[in-house]
Amino acid sequence: MTTQPKASHFIDGQYVEDTSGTPIEVIYPATGQVIATVYEATPAIVEQALTSAARAQAEWAARDGTSRGRVLRRAAQIIMERNRELSVLETYDTGKPLQETLVADATSGADALEYFGGLAADVTGQAMQFGGDWAYTIRRPLGVCVGIGAWNYPTQIACWKAAPALATGNAMIFKPSETTPLCALKVAEILIEAGLPAGLFNVVQGRGAVGAALTGDARVAKVSLTGSVPTGRKVYAAAAAQMKQVTMELGGKSPFIVFADADLDDAVSGAINANFYSSGQVCSNGTRVFVHADVQEAFLAKLKARVESATIGDPMDEATNFGPMTTQAQLDITRHHLETAQAEGARVITGGEVLDKPGFWITPAVLAGVTDDMTVARQEVFGPVMSVLTFTDEADVITRANDTEFGLSAGLFTQDLTRAHRVVAQLRAGTCWINQYNLTPVGMPFGGSRQSGIGRENARMAMDHFTEAQTVYVGMSPVEAAF
Ligand code: NDP
Repeated sequence: MTTQPKASHFIDGQYVEDTSGTPIEVIYPATGQVIATVYEATPAIVEQALTSAARAQAEWAARDGTSRGRVLRRAAQIIMERNRELSVLETYDTGKPLQETLVADATSGADALEYFGGLAADVTGQAMQFGGDWAYTIRRPLGVCVGIGAWNYPTQIACWKAAPALATGNAMIFKPSETTPLCALKVAEILIEAGLPAGLFNVVQGRGAVGAALTGDARVAKVSLTGSVPTGRKVYAAAAAQMKQVTMELGGKSPFIVFADADLDDAVSGAINANFYSSGQVCSNGTRVFVHADVQEAFLAKLKARVESATIGDPMDEATNFGPMTTQAQLDITRHHLETAQAEGARVITGGEVLDKPGFWITPAVLAGVTDDMTVARQEVFGPVMSVLTFTDEADVITRANDTEFGLSAGLFTQDLTRAHRVVAQLRAGTCWINQYNLTPVGMPFGGSRQSGIGRENARMAMDHFTEAQTVYVGMSPVEAAF
């Protein structure tokens, strides 16, 4: 497979190159080798993307929803037909094992395109009666929207943002993370092949400055960011200066609670999914694992055996279920967190070894004896590090679970139905799971509260975030005036 794209950017229905931009080398995380080079968008490229999106959007918005939806559904079908090729590319871009990318990336993007394609004909307002007069609302598209992505799910993030934006009549300019620039270009190619008019989904490459240039342009109506909290603050502030709408999908430090009556095998499986999928580089991960004291020993024993059975190796081998980290920088952050945690008193139960081979490899780590004030329990690691904490009292664990600036996700395992709903209602998190973790079907809203973000992706709610209400009052009687 050729990993070098035809050109760096995709604008107005075609690949566009401008080698005067700063080169960005794309590195395959499993080997550390350079597999492609793209060039950061120059101001001229950004301008081209904005002009073409603004021009294309009006005609697209004027189309009826069924016709828009048909294009998205066709794109979903093409993605499914090419799933293997796209999954291999996702693995090159991120290092995630093919075993994962075959089922979680292009397929998740296709789900979003199919789902929002189906809903495109169902963008509805409300009608209100005021005596003989009445009013109604129309959901109008916002215009040109900007999507900015993180590097952990490049195909999924591009589709989760593009699908609701396009379904509701907007255009989107997408800036992938500089680390993983390849996959969104394929999404753009496929949308064109499916019949999307040129200019409605443009991809421009670059670092933060390109994202900032897009966010600050007056022609842009909305910015949807997936990224860290510090970046979220900057982008939100820049958008606020021009009163733009935003969706912010940011980081987390989510609690995962195992009550004494939990099915321990399920809880261990849930904790593994909540910490080690995608080598731990998942925003919603449940990294503070609170385990009831009565079952902690048994939980840790099962967990250690399961974690040590991970198949770590060539991500392209479908038997591999744990791959490298995506960048050397993220590996260094992870290693630093492990050292700090041990210095602060945590015990390594297993893992955390950096493998002596090319690429960015570290084994999945479980820390026990973690307390609430340790750095590893307060900051997002974004790597394969699970922190196990102990609790005995329900009210106490709820307080501790909520004691964080973040609020992206939370999970709990118990067989007690009443307790499950009682506890979940007190957890301050945008997305919660009971006896499951990290499943995000497209029909379910996903997003965070507090520092973890604003707005929701997926489900019908995402349609509201890419439209605004226009209210129309209709007078049916003679107009009265004071004089
Ligand atoms: P960053 O916040 O570093 O970057 C996110 C994106 O924003 C990148 O494309 C980045 O460009 C761009 N960017 C940086 N500065 C600016 C700016 N001033 N204006 C506009 N755009 C800018 O996040 P990472 O890529 O490192 O991703 C990891 C983070 O993302 C974690 O905190 C994780 O929790 C979060 N995340 C949240 C998810 C969610 O749905 N809630 C899902 C996945 C990840 P570049 O990288 O090229 O510099």
